[in-house]
Amino acid sequence: MKDIKSLTLEELKREMEEMGEKSFRAKQLYEWMHVKLVRSFDEMTNIPLSLRERCEREYDFTAVKQVRMQESAIDGTKKYLFELGDGKLVESVWMKYKHGNSVCISSQVGCRMGCAFCASTLDGLERSLTPSEMLDQIYAITRLTGERVSNVVVMGTGEPMDNYDNLLRFLTLLTDENGLHISQRNVTVSTCGLVPQMRQLAQEQLQITLALSLHATTDEKRRRLMPVANKYSIQELMETCAYYFQKTGRRITFEYSLVGGVNDTDEDARELIALIKDLNCHVNLIPVNPIKERNFVQSGGEEIAAFKNKLEKNGINVTIRREMGRDIDGACGQLRRRQKALQ
Ligand code: SAH
Repeated sequence: MKDIKSLTLEELKREMEEMGEKSFRAKQLYEWMHVKLVRSFDEMTNIPLSLRERCEREYDFTAVKQVRMQESAIDGTKKYLFELGDGKLVESVWMKYKHGNSVCISSQVGCRMGCAFCASTLDGLERSLTPSEMLDQIYAITRLTGERVSNVVVMGTGEPMDNYDNLLRFLTLLTDENGLHISQRNVTVSTCGLVPQMRQLAQEQLQITLALSLHATTDEKRRRLMPVANKYSIQELMETCAYYFQKTGRRITFEYSLVGGVNDTDEDARELIALIKDLNCHVNLIPVNPIKERNFVQSGGEEIAAFKNKLEKNGINVTIRREMGRDIDGACGQLRRRQKALQ
């Protein structure tokens, strides 16, 4: 069956025409799904019952179910565990900032990228999410919190570029003026660095931010942390980032997780500066978040500050990412596929 929440308004209009329905029904259905965020055809009160029943028979209707919500006592961050139609589980995180609410969504159930410091990849990849399953994490959280979401980051479990077509459709629907209409500029997609898909994304000429998980300054070091580095070199990645900027005019974000004694030395800072100084970019330093299966330790406060200072002295824009929701395992790299307590 077709997944109705993954269809664009244009596609939905064609569907209605094929059914012999008036095309304005498409607009109504679309609005119920993507603006009013209803969870079933039953709630679509201005659609005739016969059409609702027909839709029920002919389409899948994605509505993720909340299984659990944990709220951080430190910063009010909320982590949601959602169940998908086939019983699989994904996590999403809601963060409140001064400038608005941000949601971090998952793009896959599990992940196959194998980064050494990340919990999301421990059990491998189960499957990719559909566009509607990505959207519905945001819709569900909007309903549950009763607050508008202004920023979306695709930084939860999964590698978005490993689910490219669904990601693109998700981005189209999310930023569509007939839907939730989140500004493209308020959307960030983070990748471990799949070069062909990054190039493809550049050609779409969207105004979203592309974030690259760099984490190391030499191929050798990067390979120890991220298996994907065996496939694409840092050199290729830098060229691809320059290309992204050239095509979109959007500044690249580099994510750099600081691991004590591994990638936080003076030399690392110098090498990082040399790599990126000619790129229009922003660096996001992430003190590595501990996961119990690995023994990576965070760099000390002084090392982090020194690293940041060095970059800044060289005119590089840097922020240290606040560790939102660490007490609920909601921070970067702490989302996971298996929910031990529930099994
Ligand atoms: N697959 C995508 C998006 C998910 S991860 C990617 O790799 O970019 C979001 C960010 O958190 C990435 O930069 C990732 O490398 C980082 N990350 C993963 N585990 C982490 C950890 N334990 N501590 C800090 N950052 C981590």
